[in-house]
Amino acid sequence: MRRAIFPGSFDPITLGHVDIVNRALPLFDEIIIAIGVNADKKYMFSLDERINFIKENYKNEPKIKVTTYTGLTTDYCQKMNVDFILRGLRNPADFEFEKAIAQTNRKLSEIETVFLLTSATTAFISSSIVRDVYRHGGDISKFVPKSVLKK
Ligand code: ADP
Repeated sequence: MRRAIFPGSFDPITLGHVDIVNRALPLFDEIIIAIGVNADKKYMFSLDERINFIKENYKNEPKIKVTTYTGLTTDYCQKMNVDFILRGLRNPADFEFEKAIAQTNRKLSEIETVFLLTSATTAFISSSIVRDVYRHGGDISKFVPKSVLKK
């Protein structure tokens, strides 16, 4: 069975993440959306909220699982018996950053990182900008799935 993990903060999940996951679905038998928990990082949405936004969005998609993890992503992949890490690329800055992480992960393990280029319509979306718009009372409905708007 071909399984991938899509790691991230998902604070909150955006239509950019959804685009990557939806396009990766035909490539894998199972995609585990794994929320990385970093004790030093401050999040806008609680872990439960972030889990529920994702679960609600994919409630009719049996190939998607949602989990949380701490520590190294490669250790978590080994624990979950997953061979692929899925990541999205929006721009050259993402590429440079992701390249270093993927190459490090290759040194740490046999796990391959699979990159999908974001669609042009969602390339500009980032969780941090969505948080800024939300914090200042702006309309985030064009950037996030309906499950986030319900809050
Ligand atoms: P992290 O804290 O690891 O950056 P994010 O939740 O911000 O976690 O992102 C997780 C993954 O989703 C990363 O691979 C990131 O490049 C990708 N991603 C984020 N926003 C978009 C987008 N608009 N289009 C495509 N991929 C995206």
